[in-house]
Amino acid sequence: MPSAPRFLDKLVSMTAIHDLELIEYSLLKTLEEFIRFDEMLLLKFDQNGSPFYQSKLLKNKYEIIWEDIIIEEEILAGIDIVKRTNQPFFQIRESRTVLNIWQILSSKSQEIYLATTTRKKLNDLDSHMIKGLLGIYRNFYEVLSESQLDQLTGLCNRKTFDEVINKIYFQKQVDSTPSPIERRVDIDDDETCFWLGMADLDNFKRVNDTWGHLYGDEVLLLTSQLMKAHFRENDYLFRFGGEEFVIIIRSKDEENAHFAFERFRKVIESYNFPQVGKVTISIGVARMDRTIFTATLLDHADKALYYAKQNGRNRVCFFNKLLERGLVEDTNFTAGEIELF
Ligand code: GH3
Ligand code: MG
Ligand code: MG
Repeated sequence: MPSAPRFLDKLVSMTAIHDLELIEYSLLKTLEEFIRFDEMLLLKFDQNGSPFYQSKLLKNKYEIIWEDIIIEEEILAGIDIVKRTNQPFFQIRESRTVLNIWQILSSKSQEIYLATTTRKKLNDLDSHMIKGLLGIYRNFYEVLSESQLDQLTGLCNRKTFDEVINKIYFQKQVDSTPSPIERRVDIDDDETCFWLGMADLDNFKRVNDTWGHLYGDEVLLLTSQLMKAHFRENDYLFRFGGEEFVIIIRSKDEENAHFAFERFRKVIESYNFPQVGKVTISIGVARMDRTIFTATLLDHADKALYYAKQNGRNRVCFFNKLLERGLVEDTNFTAGEIELF
């Protein structure tokens, strides 16, 4: 039985974290402290049942995988049983260890499971504690995602943007724990830069006017799904408001960044939206640089987007390219001006 005061302390620290990914890490660490696990896996499946995220805690090593996730057959079969029975699943494996699976969350856009391996079968008290902890996590996750995610598309909302920017720029210095975020933060790495694309659906008002708001919403939802499928799991996607999206990707050079945004533009262009048919998108891109203010960065992307809109729409424009050619003017907000925002 975990010591109650220690457990309460852990709960307090877990719920003090407001970062949806860090609380997962904290959840696994909390469980690890009280129960002897050989291995812990947190698995997320999308609405099509495909795994898109795995975090693993194994002997104090924390690892996140976003791509090419391979899950053991035994675990997949266990998850299937949990899904059907709505009950946690336990099985003694050939290695005499015990596989335990719980469903953590099931929502429209994802299902999350916890799979652990223990030496012995968990006693009732431990099982109860895990169930309680997962319940707390679930409730807390729902509250956080309601305030941080856009309700229609499930993408991050505008409110989360500043936190993400800070995370990209500053997390490395602030946080030395092996958190999931660390892998993302290599803006100091000579090889990698971050690029911010501001994307806005073209003539979207016409979609609403012709087909009605519900079809408009469907286009927004499908656009966000295409976006999630197209960009990588560790890129950042936001619905900034209305029919405007912000996408932050990492790429070592402008050529690759251009390729990624251009390919997404083509994905939208060639998609056949039910009833509505063809829809296009314009994207303005700016290179992220910690020496410029976020307001300036957004202004650069916005200027490039505006240029794309003025010059035929359905295109990707890079701010620095336009600047080189004298087609846009630079702005650099100072701290004083930013306070006015
Ligand atoms: P442009 O190519 O210049 O971007 O033209 P546009 O028509 O897309 O731009 P405008 O800003 O004039 O219109 C945006 C429209 O987006 C207006 C509004 O009806 C629609 N819109 C904004 N938010 C939502 C939403 O949540 N759902 C739906 N269905 N429509 C929305
Ligand atoms: Mg628009
Ligand atoms: Mg707009």
